Amino acid sequence: MNMELSRRGLLKVAGVGVAATSVTAMGFGEADAAVAAHVRPYKLVNTTETRNTCPYCSVACGVILYSRGDLRKGEQAEITHIEGDVDHPTNLGTLCPKGAALKDFVHAPTRLQYPMVRRPGSDRFERISWDQALDRIARLMKDDRDANFLARNQQGVPVNRWTTTGMLAASATTNETAWCTFKVAKGLGIVGFDNQARV
Ligand code: SF4
Repeated sequence: MNMELSRRGLLKVAGVGVAATSVTAMGFGEADAAVAAHVRPYKLVNTTETRNTCPYCSVACGVILYSRGDLRKGEQAEITHIEGDVDHPTNLGTLCPKGAALKDFVHAPTRLQYPMVRRPGSDRFERISWDQALDRIARLMKDDRDANFLARNQQGVPVNRWTTTGMLAASATTNETAWCTFKVAKGLGIVGFDNQARV
């Protein structure tokens, strides 16, 4: 049979073919199993969302951490995905390349996760508790300030300087936390004060 097919007719035939394929793919034929086998389950299903702040720089973008594992059942939580927080006013869901690679940072085997100290004369760091770390920092700060605080200069002018201890603060904080940190440092007389965002 000599069948002439116009352009419009060809499109109709093609459309019927696509529709038939789609119907098959929806489970009306043997192809459904093959199609289903290639559809990956949504990777964030059954995860817990936790809001946080990117630790890298002073932009302090909001992030959402997705984790598996229920801590209440004694399971180990594992972060499986991190993305920008669309509700955060700073970044509106966007992240720069450093922030977008945060998951690797979290899982890096070299990441510092607890306080460590290298004692005088030792060639290695050892793990200590947070209480031990805070007590040690407070003790060393007090001793050094008592020994080196300068209330007045040689001309007798009040200067209130403590120049032998410095402080490096974090940038991933709120304005209020940063304000308190600065007040503590300056209230103690610390001169050498800087921020991780500039490192
Ligand atoms: S995502 Fe990038 S810009 Fe935002 S805080 Fe992290 S490092 Fe800074």
